[in-house]
Amino acid sequence: MKAIVINKHGGPEVLSYEEVETPVLGPRDVLINIKAIGVNHFDLDVRNGISGHLDSQMPHVLGVEGAGIITEVGSAVTAFKPGERVMPYLTTSCGHCYRCLSGHDNICMHFDKLGVTHWGTYAEYVRVTDDNIVRMPDELSFIDAAATQVAVATAWELVVVHANVQPGEAVLINAAGSGVGTAAVQLAANAGGMVISTAGSDEKLARAKELGSSYGINYNKESIEEGVMRVTGGRGVEVCIEMVGGNVLQESIRALNHNGRLATCGAHAGEHVEIDIIEIFRKQIHISGNHFSPKINNEKALRLVASGKVKPVIAKNFHLSQMSEAHKLIESRNFFGKVVLET
Ligand code: ZN
Repeated sequence: MKAIVINKHGGPEVLSYEEVETPVLGPRDVLINIKAIGVNHFDLDVRNGISGHLDSQMPHVLGVEGAGIITEVGSAVTAFKPGERVMPYLTTSCGHCYRCLSGHDNICMHFDKLGVTHWGTYAEYVRVTDDNIVRMPDELSFIDAAATQVAVATAWELVVVHANVQPGEAVLINAAGSGVGTAAVQLAANAGGMVISTAGSDEKLARAKELGSSYGINYNKESIEEGVMRVTGGRGVEVCIEMVGGNVLQESIRALNHNGRLATCGAHAGEHVEIDIIEIFRKQIHISGNHFSPKINNEKALRLVASGKVKPVIAKNFHLSQMSEAHKLIESRNFFGKVVLET
């Protein structure tokens, strides 16, 4: 099969389009012919060798997100059959621990991630166990599916499950031009929230308004706290959807109203942040962490996209062989929405 292979960690130049052996299945394995791939910032961390506690063996195939068709199943697989349209589940789980059994397979005790210790979706075929598959609706395109599992499902967790946005609430959404941000803007607006987006350019803020945002804050022109107080008449926001970290997280906490809820899923701008605990308890602030999405909610997010109520925003569509170009575009930060590829 054709795949994007890395033989060492490094920049986009280490991504090599090569012919490699198609994975051989064990009894509980399923082979998926990948049709579309979603590229995530996490992939760049794995490529750079800074993804945290999980190590990759070389040669390695990256990629946490993709959508395709089952072509082969192992001898013990009964729940799936060739021809089904599916996505591999990106946070691979055991299916048996108490977190998996309570529906939190996104934080399985034996948690792993596709494309880190196992070969991922940057290939024509990916092998996963039958515990780690999400079915996709027939009417959903592979491209839209590949732009949903991380962006829309994570935004759904933040906006619906953690923050539980109510009609009329002011909702601050950081990095509104990102995959998660573009989905969160639509979900919060659909829930009746008054959305205030932040981004680093007026062009991205104008695009966010097309998705349902009411106001924009260009953080290169004013602080998030100043912008929020300007828009809300000094009251602050009831909800913040956060995925940036660093000083953006600090400013966002200051922009919250009393009893404000902040849901966070990322920290690329700074993982260690000084927080004034007195402000947290005096303002009765709720901070809630989220790590991707359980399989069951992934299926809900895919149905939501298939219904047309939320539309994944595709920044650019490449061919698999152009993966290094896709990574360069993400590193430039000069894109709006989700970068995807087709095999
Ligand atoms: Zn588990």
